[in-house]
Amino acid sequence: MEDFIERVLITEEEIRQRVRELGEAISRDYAGKELRVVGVLRGAFIFMADLVRNIRVPLSVDFMSISSYGDECETSGVVRILKDLDKPITGRHVLIVEDIVDTGLTLRHLKEVLSTRGPASLKVCALLSKPERRLVQDLTIDYLGFEIPNCFVVGYGLDYAERYRNYPFIFVLKPDYYHDAQREGKGQCG
Ligand code: 5GP
Repeated sequence: MEDFIERVLITEEEIRQRVRELGEAISRDYAGKELRVVGVLRGAFIFMADLVRNIRVPLSVDFMSISSYGDECETSGVVRILKDLDKPITGRHVLIVEDIVDTGLTLRHLKEVLSTRGPASLKVCALLSKPERRLVQDLTIDYLGFEIPNCFVVGYGLDYAERYRNYPFIFVLKPDYYHDAQREGKGQCG
């Protein structure tokens, strides 16, 4: 085990199994339709790559990049679009793929922005959710991988200061490996 790992929260095998189930559910629900899968960069890139390989309806992909957490601060609820979609989504069945829903402010904003563009439908698939931290109460996550406790996690696309995205499981870092003291929930789970 790598020295920086406090504990593994979700193993590679658990992720593989759950992503397969999500793909099957999405394939069933969208049977006979064509999907536009919108990945939120950068945290969702690995999840999305695995997810689309488990979806069996015709689909195209597009990406958005938005600012949420900086390297040192908390979500403010003000979300800036750093890279917009390349293609219009008018009349499309759109599935937003997110890494993690924490307060829910980012996802709420993203849904508001995309719904003004006239999609035929707009749903959300998130790998992780931290319900304890939710500030937006009426937020629907149509497809959810795992609920996790209030702790800061990395791996499988998720970073801390741009590191650890490349590990194929989801884990909590040892406190020594954080260099900002303010990050809430870090290192303690549950
Ligand atoms: P929200 O607006 O829901 O509070 O924040 C969502 C975003 O914050 C996620 O897309 C992700 O970028 C970041 N985030 C929230 N919790 C975590 C976490 O535990 N680990 C990592 N790496 N990012 C997180």
